[in-house]
Amino acid sequence: MKLRICIALVSLAAGQFSWGQTNGVPTPTIPQNAPLDPGTLAVIGATAEQEASLRSQIQIMHPKVLPLRVLFVPHGKYLDATRIFQLHVPQGFGSMMFTHLASRTVYVDNDRYMGTEWLGHWMAHELGHLASNSTKEGDAEKVAREYRKRLKQSLVAKSH
Ligand SMILES: [Zn+2]
Repeated sequence: MKLRICIALVSLAAGQFSWGQTNGVPTPTIPQNAPLDPGTLAVIGATAEQEASLRSQIQIMHPKVLPLRVLFVPHGKYLDATRIFQLHVPQGFGSMMFTHLASRTVYVDNDRYMGTEWLGHWMAHELGHLASNSTKEGDAEKVAREYRKRLKQSLVAKSH
């Protein structure tokens, strides 16, 4: 947790709705009036197991705002994405996920993937950015705490 720097952007540039493909990193196009249906969530680059975990976690957390896409990308591509979005990743530190708020896209550095518990913990944080529509870590964490509670409750319910 100490070493984690999370970065989120509100917007790249006003009025820019489609960025197309840059350096092989998939960059999103924003659909109009996208419905909040978990079925519309695109999970890209994940293993079947990762995708299943992610979908069930998101269902349990029942976030106010769903991401439209979650991209699991190799470390190099992840760094490319941070460059495209002009995110500053301090040397010696790594971010492992970030959310691009304008397109409701979450990027996950798949080379740093540490299992489903890790995924749920940090996805709660990214969903917190989306729900609060804020790049501030404090705002995201405030919402994330509630989402993590729901994840925990569901685990307790399952073990009974
Ligand atoms: Zn954050």
